[in-house]
Amino acid sequence: MKLGAIEGGGTKFVCGIGSADGHLLDSISIPTTTPEQTLGHAMQYFTQFDIQAIGFGSFGPVETDPNKPRYGQILNTPKPHWSGFPMLSYLKTQLQMPIVIDTDVNMAALGETTWGAAVGLDSCLYMTVGTGIGAGAIMKGRIVHGFSHTEMGHLLIRKHSEDIFMGNCPFHRDCLEGLAAGPAIEARSGRKGVLVDREDKLWELEAYYLAQALVNIALVLAPKKVIMGGGVMKQMQLFPYIRQQVGHLMQDYIELPEDWIVPPGLGDFSALKGALALARTNL
Ligand code: ADP
Ligand code: ZN
Repeated sequence: MKLGAIEGGGTKFVCGIGSADGHLLDSISIPTTTPEQTLGHAMQYFTQFDIQAIGFGSFGPVETDPNKPRYGQILNTPKPHWSGFPMLSYLKTQLQMPIVIDTDVNMAALGETTWGAAVGLDSCLYMTVGTGIGAGAIMKGRIVHGFSHTEMGHLLIRKHSEDIFMGNCPFHRDCLEGLAAGPAIEARSGRKGVLVDREDKLWELEAYYLAQALVNIALVLAPKKVIMGGGVMKQMQLFPYIRQQVGHLMQDYIELPEDWIVPPGLGDFSALKGALALARTNL
């Protein structure tokens, strides 16, 4: 049996074909343009294969409650053309099969608990630090949802006293994403993150912000594992800095699990494989 997977992001949509045990057999990357063009291309891809179901991990905000009329729609986004676009019903016009949708980071958390760094655990958090910051959580084996999907990338955190950067989140200015996502690093330093020296003090500041978010998340959800991915986390020096800052901020108030903060076990495929896992549960 073959399944389809979509990781839909603001710059590209990655579509893949895989087996129910998490092996990816094929994948393509489609640039994100208009919804019709992007999803049209995805449908063309999937019709070449004999697949039974699709799991779709989307950028947000997106309606993820199957009981709501707007299920599968992108909600209010600054991204041109996408606000209110009914992605799921559009895909279903050509693909007559079960398609289930959740956020890209929820998919990544699911992928990591099913086949990656959190196998055997009934809870974990996956955080991506890239063009934006997002996180998804699994608790008692289920993806955490409330009145909407979670939005932990916009946690409100303390600014460092020596940080003169104002923050660049269009909604909250100096929330976590506004202070610590890739574009904030670039605005603060005048260089792309990949070009900032590994020894630069900027990485300690970055770790200070990410650590605050993880402390807040530990206090609210207590996930047994925290997996950090995305382009910015390719700076591996961040891991020891973040662990150190989390310890410093938490002050032994609660004891954290050993090896609590780790890179993804599935590399760049956490979300795509999580989408396979979700497709499988929906058969
Ligand atoms: P996206 O979030 O768009 O899906 P990425 O996770 O690759 O994609 O994140 C892109 C952001 O991460 C950009 O702001 C980019 O400058 C930054 N980035 C990508 N690679 C690195 C790296 N090796 N070091 C630091 N920053 C990086
Ligand atoms: Zn924000």
